[in-house]
Amino acid sequence: MKRPRRQDDHAWSQLHLSHATEGDLSRRQRRRFDGHLARCPQCRRGLQSLEALVRALTRLHDAPAPGVREDIYIHLRDRILNAPPPPGLSG
Ligand SMILES: [Zn+2]
Repeated sequence: MKRPRRQDDHAWSQLHLSHATEGDLSRRQRRRFDGHLARCPQCRRGLQSLEALVRALTRLHDAPAPGVREDIYIHLRDRILNAPPPPGLSG
């Protein structure tokens, strides 16, 4: 099998950032992703920001902070959770 070029790995890794964040890569895919990540600061930053976003969204499932009206909180939370992903982060 032909060894993928570096540019191919970058495009492929960008497409699979969300899968990597959710642990949805096969062993082979994970090796390819980690191998590319080791030499690509742009993909490392992408993964870090996506992981931070996932952590923030996870906290959205918790109750609103004290002093925040629950109906407003739920309305905003549901809008955020149902918003379509930005281009490049879908899948
Ligand atoms: Zn990259």
